[in-house]
Amino acid sequence: MTTTRRPLIAGNWKMNGLTADGTALAAGLAEKASADANPPYDMLVCPPFVLIGAVSGALGDSGIALGAQDCHAAEKGAHTGDVSAAMLKDADCSFVIVGHSERRTDHGETDEQVKAKAEAVLSNGMTAVVCIGETEAERDAGKTLDVVTSQVRGSLPAGATAANTVLAYEPVWAIGTGRTPTSDEVQEVHAAIRAELAKIVGNEADGIRLLYGGSMKPTNAAELLALSDVDGGLIGGASLKVEDFMGIAACC
Ligand code: PEP
Repeated sequence: MTTTRRPLIAGNWKMNGLTADGTALAAGLAEKASADANPPYDMLVCPPFVLIGAVSGALGDSGIALGAQDCHAAEKGAHTGDVSAAMLKDADCSFVIVGHSERRTDHGETDEQVKAKAEAVLSNGMTAVVCIGETEAERDAGKTLDVVTSQVRGSLPAGATAANTVLAYEPVWAIGTGRTPTSDEVQEVHAAIRAELAKIVGNEADGIRLLYGGSMKPTNAAELLALSDVDGGLIGGASLKVEDFMGIAACC
C-alpha cells in the first residue's frame, strides 16, 4: 500500500462472546496496544451490540477504535429490535460495518439499503465500513469484477470521503472457510474497486482505504497487506484471539 493510506486492522467479532469474553479480549488487546505508543496502523474492534458498553470501558485509552456491526438507516422510531447510528455514536462507536455478506444473505439487505445505512453512519459523524464481495458461483462464472464494481456503485454513501468511508472486499466464499484468493486476484479486484471509486469521487479514491477480508490470519496477512491496493484487513475468526489479531497487525 502507499504511505498516504494508513492501514486499518479491523476485527468483526460477529455474534460471539458474553460480557466476560468481550471484556477479556478487549483488555488483552488494550494491554498489547498500550505497549506500542505509535503503531504504524489503526486498530478497530466491532463487538456485538450488547457488549459495546463493556468493551468501550475495557479498551480505555488504548487507542483502539470501537465500532458496531450494523445499524438501521433511520434516526429513530418504530423499528423494534433495531439500533440507530445515533445510538452507536452515543455509545462511543466511531465506525459501523454495513453490508456484511452475512447481513446481505441472512437479512436480504440490498445495495440500496446498505447505502442508506452508510449514509446514516456518515450523518452521525462516524466512518462506514462498507462490505462488498462476490459469491463462489459469481467468481466461477467470471463475474467477480462486474459484481464488486456494481456493489461499489450501489452501496457507496453519498458524500463518501477518505475520512468517512472504508471499503472491505470480502469474497463470500473466503469468509470463515480458510480459503483465500491468490494475491494477484486480490490486487486485481482492489485495483478495480479503486478505479470504480475514482469514477464516482475522483481523486478522493486515492485516499479511501480498501480492506481485504476472508480468512486472513497471521500466516497469510503479510502477503495480503503488502499488496499496493490493500490498506488493511477486516478480520473475523482471527480477531477473537489476542495473539492472532495482534499478529496480523504486526504484519503492517
Ligand atoms: C468476516 O466475516 O468479516 C471475515 C472476514 O471472517 P473470517 O476472517 O473469519 O473469514
